Amino acid sequence: MATGTSPSNNDIAANFDDIKGRIQKTGKKWERPTTDVDLIAVSKRQPVSAIEAALSSGHRHFGENRVQEAQEKWPDLKARYADIELHLIGPLQTNKAKDAVALFDVIQTIDRPKLARILAKEMTAAGRNLPVYIQVNTGKEPQKAGIFPEDADAFIAECREELGLDVVGLMCIPPVEEQPAPHFALLGKIAGRNGLSHLSMGMSADFETAVQFGATAVRVGTALFGTRTDP
Ligand SMILES: *Cc1c(COP(=O)(O)O)cnc(C)c1O
Repeated sequence: MATGTSPSNNDIAANFDDIKGRIQKTGKKWERPTTDVDLIAVSKRQPVSAIEAALSSGHRHFGENRVQEAQEKWPDLKARYADIELHLIGPLQTNKAKDAVALFDVIQTIDRPKLARILAKEMTAAGRNLPVYIQVNTGKEPQKAGIFPEDADAFIAECREELGLDVVGLMCIPPVEEQPAPHFALLGKIAGRNGLSHLSMGMSADFETAVQFGATAVRVGTALFGTRTDP
């Protein structure tokens, strides 16, 4: 076990039940259906034993933020479970685009024209036109990835029309020191006016607010798996 605080497999199964229950309850409270809310279990810097526990409990949708780490953990698991859906949720360097296209099933972090162009090329070469999300930097934070809100419409159009990418939705990570709700609302507004139906937003601390504001995918790590190992 990588850390002394890792939860047992039973705890992990119970955590999944708890989070799913809270998603349902939030949906009832705000009168929105939650059958369309996808729980993406974020397994970055978690031991394979924790992922195995989630797989045993029937979970199949996971998120990783680094290509190299995912390449170390996932090929064997994907060979054993054909229906795993692996989402890339971290920043992608263009020199890793080819590897990302080969391993991941959904790429949530398209954040700049150069990356979009290279991904489109690699997807064509691999014959894998993966569903993608555009990451929006709703807080316009200089250190954070994502297209700025005012540039989003044009970038979405470029990705779809010029590059032929299968853009299914938008993704955001609100600034840690702010209330997330206005950021979730803004992401929903940009998606709505661009005819996009998927919103990837909400993490362990704020997934219920995200569900309230229309999330269709929540990315939950520590609330499912416990504390991560150091990077
Ligand atoms: C790590 C990470 C998460 C999960 O964060 P938790 O707070 O552990 O739930 C979600 N989204 C992204 C983009 C991440 O990098």
